[in-house]
Amino acid sequence: MLRVSLKTLLGIALVVLSMADAYQSNAQTRYLPKANFQTYSQSSESNLPGAGGLHLTPGEDRPANQKSTSYAPGEPTLNGALVRWEAKKMPLKIWIAPGLKLPECPFSEIQETRVEQVYGMLKAPAADPFAGLQTAFSWTPDLNYIVANGIEQWRRFQNEGLVSFVFTEDPRNAQILIFYTDGFSDSSSPGGTHVAGITSAQVYPFDLAQQVNIAQKPVVIELLLDGNSERLQAQSAHEFGHALGIKAHSPYRDDLMYVDRIVPQLSPGDVATFRYLYKQKPQYVL
Ligand SMILES: [Zn+2]
Repeated sequence: MLRVSLKTLLGIALVVLSMADAYQSNAQTRYLPKANFQTYSQSSESNLPGAGGLHLTPGEDRPANQKSTSYAPGEPTLNGALVRWEAKKMPLKIWIAPGLKLPECPFSEIQETRVEQVYGMLKAPAADPFAGLQTAFSWTPDLNYIVANGIEQWRRFQNEGLVSFVFTEDPRNAQILIFYTDGFSDSSSPGGTHVAGITSAQVYPFDLAQQVNIAQKPVVIELLLDGNSERLQAQSAHEFGHALGIKAHSPYRDDLMYVDRIVPQLSPGDVATFRYLYKQKPQYVL
């Protein structure tokens, strides 16, 4: 058998992903019926025709008799490959920061840096791995309950035996860590759009993960605080959907995993998609 060093194997296999979601600034929301999220995966932004502002995508509506049609949850940058957690890693442990924000980082570099940055902090011998971090300006303790409420949207699947998760007070014990931000630098576009959330993760080929014991790297979620708690709860639920493995966005505007709307709860289509994902053998694992 070809002997390849673990480092080489991981170097080959490691894939870093992140999904970013944006929304129009408040000023414009006033005359829009619903605050719009404009989502752009790390590649789509630069491909938008007519640079200089993001275009609101109307999104599709399902026919009345097909309300629970699922959509493709796979990772767009991996040809739609299915990504999910293995049962052996459950219950997933989630840590919500007490208002902490990660160091300022150009938006375009978040994907490449966040997971390793947070992993480095967790591995450092300090008693509190995040002692040096600042608190987001408009954070208040009640916001952590709003974020948790968003995450609880996915609890129904625990009852179905598909996924299980708990909240932990110890970030070193967590697989999914949630931080806040006052704003993502260099992320706004002339159209007045801002990024509202981003989820960064590393994934590994399923087959490789069966052969070697890979160190678990954290999934890092960052949520914008802009005083809109309704949007924060919906955004939290949306980003947690990415953290669970729904990597692509739904084309249907009524879905929580749609690109640019506040959708407060899972739709029948989101539910069908999640069940499909967790009943398939994945190509990649978190
Ligand atoms: Zn998204």
